[in-house]
Amino acid sequence: MPNPTSPSTIHRTDYTPPPFLIDTIELEFELEAERTTVTSKMQLRRNPQAAYCPELQLSGEALQLISLRLDGVACTNRQIDEAGLTVYDVPDAFELTIVNACEPASNTSLMGLYLSNGHFFTQCEAQGFRKITYFLDRPDVMARYTVILRANKAAYPILLSNGNLIEAGDLPNGKHYAKWHDPFAKPSYLFALVAGQLVALEERIITHSGAQKLLQVWVEAHDLDKTHHAMDALIHAIHWDEARFGLELDLERFMIVAVSDFNMGAMENKGLNIFNTKYVLANPQTATDSDYANIEAVVGHEYFHNWTGNRVTCRDWFQLSLKEGLTVFRDQEFSADMAAAGAVNAAAARASQRIENVRILQQVQFAEDAGPMAHPVRPESYVEINNFYTATVYEKGAEVVRMYQTLLGRDGFRQGMDLYFQRHDGQAVSCDDFRQAMAEANQRDLAQFEHWYSQLGTPYVLVRSQYDEAARTYTVTLAQHYKPVLNAPYTASAPLLIPFAIGLVDANGQDLALQLAGEGAPGTATRVLELNQAEQTFRFINVQTQPVPSLLRDFSAPVIVEYDYTDDELIFLLAHDSDPFNRWAAGQRLVTRTLLALARQAERTQLTGNQLNQSIIDAFGRILRDETLTPAFREQVLTLPTEIYLAEQMDQADPAAVHTARQYLRTQLANALSHDWSTIYARHQTPGPYQPTPADMGQRALKNLALSYLSNSKQSAHALHLAQTQYDRADNMSDRSAALAALIHLGGQPAQAALADFYQRFENEPLAIDKWFALQATQQRAEMDLIKLVRTLMHHPAFTLKNPNRVRALIFSFISGNPAQFHATNGSGYALWVEQVLALDTLNPQLAARLARLLERWRKFTPALREQMHEALETVLASVHSKDVREIIDKALI
Ligand code: ZN
Repeated sequence: MPNPTSPSTIHRTDYTPPPFLIDTIELEFELEAERTTVTSKMQLRRNPQAAYCPELQLSGEALQLISLRLDGVACTNRQIDEAGLTVYDVPDAFELTIVNACEPASNTSLMGLYLSNGHFFTQCEAQGFRKITYFLDRPDVMARYTVILRANKAAYPILLSNGNLIEAGDLPNGKHYAKWHDPFAKPSYLFALVAGQLVALEERIITHSGAQKLLQVWVEAHDLDKTHHAMDALIHAIHWDEARFGLELDLERFMIVAVSDFNMGAMENKGLNIFNTKYVLANPQTATDSDYANIEAVVGHEYFHNWTGNRVTCRDWFQLSLKEGLTVFRDQEFSADMAAAGAVNAAAARASQRIENVRILQQVQFAEDAGPMAHPVRPESYVEINNFYTATVYEKGAEVVRMYQTLLGRDGFRQGMDLYFQRHDGQAVSCDDFRQAMAEANQRDLAQFEHWYSQLGTPYVLVRSQYDEAARTYTVTLAQHYKPVLNAPYTASAPLLIPFAIGLVDANGQDLALQLAGEGAPGTATRVLELNQAEQTFRFINVQTQPVPSLLRDFSAPVIVEYDYTDDELIFLLAHDSDPFNRWAAGQRLVTRTLLALARQAERTQLTGNQLNQSIIDAFGRILRDETLTPAFREQVLTLPTEIYLAEQMDQADPAAVHTARQYLRTQLANALSHDWSTIYARHQTPGPYQPTPADMGQRALKNLALSYLSNSKQSAHALHLAQTQYDRADNMSDRSAALAALIHLGGQPAQAALADFYQRFENEPLAIDKWFALQATQQRAEMDLIKLVRTLMHHPAFTLKNPNRVRALIFSFISGNPAQFHATNGSGYALWVEQVLALDTLNPQLAARLARLLERWRKFTPALREQMHEALETVLASVHSKDVREIIDKALI
């Protein structure tokens, strides 16, 4: 007998079409904070496509049913349980009228209808609508919505929902109402409402077809000065989607609303996007360059969902990457095009964008794919769908989409997109439908490509090469394979189709024009080889001297390349590769190798004196001084891999050794290049008012990296002076927060004074206070007991577990930014983790599950740590309530 209390696992292959369809729904809300009443009138009919089912089962959670009528008659032939409402023996077509209540004020999960700063907001993806009313809460049930909102006019002067405003007016007793209609059928996860005291920045634009559109960014009044960048990003996104994909805004009005309490980044509700304030609000004083870049990306992302997600949606939640992978790919392309358009060196600006995207993939997704939560881009099963909004579905999913473009070319990809919309507009479809459209629009068989959706784990491509001097040939053998992951050993079902871009660099650092055996003439410098077997050999001819291979250019597939480069070859590629991505990759490979050797050494002895190969320092010094390279690129090359990434590369993760090694290399690079760092610091100032342009952002990034290195060098007095001056004079948050970070690192009274000043200055700016917490939690001062500090900060009046941004700023930042202290051998970090996972478990299960995941890789660690982590996981398991956290812990312990 299955345990009836254990949460059930949902399997992809169990999909069946919905037994009923809902054509229209009229919703009426009596908005009251403590208890909101919802009236839902729906037109239902049996789905001709589905097996006959006598009863209707609607999902509903934490609801009180007030009344139920079927075709206008009170209906008692029904039952309610914790999953929802069942109505027995229903006719083939009927009208159902439900009146129910829910309790927004006590809803801390931030799913369904909830309050934030006294305003009403909703979050329905994936399954939040069932916390608002009883419904067929699944993405393949698409209805047309009409929504009437009623509320007290003084408390909630603004009433918003999806689509177009039909009418509005006053009601007795100080109330008012607004009626909205969304002309497009949509799944319930795209429903939204907002009610509160908000103001909007407005713009009117004309789109491609000549239609006028109203754009609004809604915020609290004191934030109105921080909405311009989001509005600009929205306008750019609208134009970009027209130019690149021929996709036009389909509503008369498009709204973005900012909310301070939000579990994720933002949500693409039809015509009414709801955003975490972090991804909307920016002015130079409060937002950093990365904030500006993230806002552009997220505004783009949510806007692009209007077509990839909303007009064509997902059949079921296993297809989540159909919309997320594709939309991340689109936002990446948008950001790259925007950066290129604003840059002197467009190719360099594009490469820097690509590096940032791949860095996240390698750091987060590769680790996920090697741990207990590993799943294919299209998962096979889940217990709680919210746990599958993952780096795999989003970031690896975007790489899978990018591979179509790499294989088919930009035009071929566009034709595939056109066919996809032609066929599926208004439908809920699957990843297979997308692949099919790409294949047919290009007359290509993409059957093999399906494995990218079904295969979990990161593929390795082992590369062997051989130069035959007499024959002037260079053979490259590519072999794909997997390595078993820790607690989920698996093998490949079949070889993947891997687009593998390659270049060959001659002794002068020049690219060869590549010619494969059998080809009449030399071709391009970069060649996309199609690896579609377990192992394949490619023979290049007319190769006059032994080249150095530049492998997987521009990261043409989400794989790990194994090739025995010598240090000298990597130094050579770092200096000469024409592919900027691979120049960066060569540097990272070199520095990772160096750091791992140092970490192994640190496990045995103290790291003292100079243990480094001078040629490596020289190579990085040359990049730093190379004025032909953009500052943004130099900053990326000189930024060391994170401690988490490095620990992941060890057979047994040893956070303390990694920390020692990384700090050691930082100090060595700081001192050996200290003259360069000082020069760079002085030279890369950005005169004039703050501008978030690629050029200025690059200058600030490099300058602030110099400041960080200087604060790790022997010249700490000099660094202190620079940091202090920069802090005092800063006219923007990038410079001020970088200066504060340096001051915190240098410690003592100046650090305390700056922290106090920063707090005072930004007391009323929650997003800046988040930085105040995060900078303290991620500091690298050896003598600082960070667990103690984090505990102290948790008692600060500004800290609350109810605000996800604040929790991420303090607790998540500490754990991922300072693994050496979190993994303290006395277990104090794990004790903190247990407490906070359990505290959040009842408050906000989604956030709790994210925190729980930070220990999922416990088996990877050294035995002493592993045992303590195991105990911590067992402790959580013993008292967990939510299925969100339980799923994570269960999987970790398998
Ligand atoms: Zn998305």
